[in-house]
Amino acid sequence: MSRLATTGEVLQLVRSGEAVTRAEIGRVTGLSRPAVAHRVAELLQRGLIVEDAEGPSTGGRPPVRLRFNAAGGVVLVASLGAKRTQIAVCDLSGEALARTDVEIDVEEGPDVVLPLVMDTWEKLLDGRDDVVGVGLGVPATVEFAAGRTESARVMASWTGVVIPPVIASRFPVPVLVDNDVNVIAMGEHRVAYASELGDLLFVKVSTRIGAGVISGGGILRGALGAAGEIGHIPVRDGGGVLCRCGNIDCVDSVASGTAILRDLRDKGRDVTSLADVTALVRAGDAETMAIVRQAGRRLGEVIATAVNLLNPAVVVLGGDVAEMFQPLVSGVREIVYQRSTQLATRSLRIERSRLGPGAGITGCALMVIDHVLSPEAIDGTRTP
Ligand SMILES: [Zn+2]
Repeated sequence: MSRLATTGEVLQLVRSGEAVTRAEIGRVTGLSRPAVAHRVAELLQRGLIVEDAEGPSTGGRPPVRLRFNAAGGVVLVASLGAKRTQIAVCDLSGEALARTDVEIDVEEGPDVVLPLVMDTWEKLLDGRDDVVGVGLGVPATVEFAAGRTESARVMASWTGVVIPPVIASRFPVPVLVDNDVNVIAMGEHRVAYASELGDLLFVKVSTRIGAGVISGGGILRGALGAAGEIGHIPVRDGGGVLCRCGNIDCVDSVASGTAILRDLRDKGRDVTSLADVTALVRAGDAETMAIVRQAGRRLGEVIATAVNLLNPAVVVLGGDVAEMFQPLVSGVREIVYQRSTQLATRSLRIERSRLGPGAGITGCALMVIDHVLSPEAIDGTRTP
């Protein structure tokens, strides 16, 4: 490091495991022994690191090892879904200490949903007062820097709502809000792939279709936060389906769980939920398999374009539909390998989500933890 490492940067070294003794910190940073001692003392005093008595013996007195203190505070997280919201209190490693799911229609609006979420946090906290940050994932496009929900068509009653001040009036800590699929993409990347690769495309197929892009190890948000909204990219020969956004043949309108249900009903099949469709797939119903596979091919068209543009190492398919439907995944594979460039697919993997239903909670927790423990936040030098 060319200039003197700050306290926040020393914390980063301990958290990442790059340097876990005072001597190692000195070696990595070039700081003098008194300077290292001063920064470590500050982190100990703030409860962000602890000393481990036991260290590997090197003959003489073992060096005292420093460890990040995940118990040094909690973050409040909520992953808002269309019908169900997951709410949790997590430690500073992202582990949920207390968690509950609340059945509520997000369309009830922020005046109903946000107070309910905050009341639930209050209960889960059970008197704790060491909250250091709040993270929310919402099923809408979010202007990230402002925490403003933008999507008028999906969460109409939330359009233009700036969420952070509402939360901060009760929990006066940093509040971060992001699109739910971005949050899951971050969680999936960190937990399942971070040590391995930096470029990942996460596609959520459920009642709707959305995507989150990890590029160079971080989430790609674009200028305002709308990157990765692949649901409204049109497919070829979609049959002229009018999408709820007003355009024709968006992939969301021809390949989502909602579209699969509609196509089956058009064939006179008696299906009311995705669970019904899953049952038909499990039973090997030929007509259902054909419709689902066709949806997979259409999704594959859009994913192939994204692969050509982004060259991810892995495409992860998540959400109810992708987890349940083998034929959907087969359709995606067929088209992606056919349509993407050779270099982009040379080592491309297409896999199912490894995180499962807790992905939103983990992603929200990591988003806010990275923010509140960043060197700029620890050193108090973040520019607003
Ligand atoms: Zn559309």
